[in-house]
Amino acid sequence: MASQSFTVVIAGGGLGGLTTALALRWRGLHTVVLEQADALGEVGAGIQTAPNASRILFGLGLRRQLEAIRTEPSDQVRRRWRDGKIIAQLPLADRVVGEFGAPYWHYHRADLHRVLLDACADPEGPGPVTELYTSAAVVDIDRTDPQRPVAVTRDGRRFAGDVLIGADGIRSAVRDAAGFTDTLVFSGEMCFRALIPGDKLAADPATRFLLDRYHSTIWYGPDRHLVHYCIRGGEYLNVVAVVPSTIDTDLSWVLPATASELVESFPGWDDRVAAMLSKAEGDASKWALFRRRRDPVWVDGRVALLGDACHAMLPYQAQGASQAMEDAAVLAEELGAVTRDGIDGALIRYVNRRATHAGMVQDASLQNMRLYHLPDGPEQEERDRLLRDFRGESDVSYDWLWNGTPLAQHETESHSYPFAR
Ligand SMILES: Cc1cc2nc3c(=O)[nH]c(=O)nc-3n(C[C@H](O)[C@H](O)[C@H](O)COP(=O)(O)OP(=O)(O)OC[C@H]3O[C@@H](n4cnc5c(N)ncnc54)[C@H](O)[C@@H]3O)c2cc1C
Repeated sequence: MASQSFTVVIAGGGLGGLTTALALRWRGLHTVVLEQADALGEVGAGIQTAPNASRILFGLGLRRQLEAIRTEPSDQVRRRWRDGKIIAQLPLADRVVGEFGAPYWHYHRADLHRVLLDACADPEGPGPVTELYTSAAVVDIDRTDPQRPVAVTRDGRRFAGDVLIGADGIRSAVRDAAGFTDTLVFSGEMCFRALIPGDKLAADPATRFLLDRYHSTIWYGPDRHLVHYCIRGGEYLNVVAVVPSTIDTDLSWVLPATASELVESFPGWDDRVAAMLSKAEGDASKWALFRRRRDPVWVDGRVALLGDACHAMLPYQAQGASQAMEDAAVLAEELGAVTRDGIDGALIRYVNRRATHAGMVQDASLQNMRLYHLPDGPEQEERDRLLRDFRGESDVSYDWLWNGTPLAQHETESHSYPFAR
């Protein structure tokens, strides 16, 4: 443990930034979060956390709070586009807990974000309470004193720290201000995101099956795929529908979408898909999907990147936020173990422990873009055969992914399952 505390300024109060603040707080470090938005929050959509992320969140004392907001899928189900035939079914729930020591859970993003935020601000929690600033868009970095980087906000406020972390998402301003290489790539695809009310699904015999059991479901079809799962105990079905992009990406980033657009994007698919998508309500949206090219340079002196700012990936492994949480855990282990003099080395060790791992997940997510969207034929049949055996869908296995980056022994021992239910 460090004998002398210091200050870490974090640009970005998303899931990555807040997990980082909390993990550093637990190590006794003073944290300052600068969020560009007027209010801290998350988009109205769901999120899946695999055991690699759940384990870290439990390690930060959040098990009880997460149990109150989670929905636990019993199985992961893979279906074919035309007739909904089940290609493969993998048990999650207790099997995952037994094998990986932590659960696979689903949340409303806003609920998960709120749990993290409350923990950062909790005066009773361990370590110094996180200082949180909204309407604080970081636009520049002053490194006149390289040991004390200063985050400069749009309105001219200056926040100095011993370390500056850019957790400000895929279009990171910290990344640009620090002069890291531009690695942003448009995928050519876009996704619709929608929350479909569970009571509407329950009222229609064609869609009632979606609520029979909680599943994490992927439908595979040529050029497109569909992911859905229940959140808030079936109050909503969260839908992510990925299709070739029709968005002018220079002009638009997120646009509103309608239920009929969603339905029309899946012509010829099983009738139950149209029945499901037609029930999407007013706040459906469509997003151009970007990623970052794999690049192991995440640190420059006392400025380091974290989460989507350094390893934004396509959402085809549902791992972007989970990888950001792994970044947070490792960064906290490294910074928490040094005094001011050791910061530079700690940041380098953080990157050494994380960049290859996260890069492999980036690559695996990109591989899935092709694998998920194969036209019907021999390659698709071979893919489905592999999925049936569940040896994994890309070069990384679930064993590797869900075990996560190795953390210090005491961390995993003191916070993992089993726990009383
Ligand atoms: C459709 C879809 C589904 C996904 N599903 C999953 C999933 O199931 N599981 C999973 O693990 N991941 C999933 N992901 C990925 C996940 O959403 C991201 O990887 C994750 O949100 C990244 O977290 P972050 O904190 O790095 O960045 P962000 O969530 O983008 O947060 C960045 C924060 O920084 C703020 N900010 C931006 N610029 C500035 C600035 N200049 N100054 C200050 N603040 C700033 C933003 O307002 C925001 O609050 C999915 C992604 C998509 C698109």
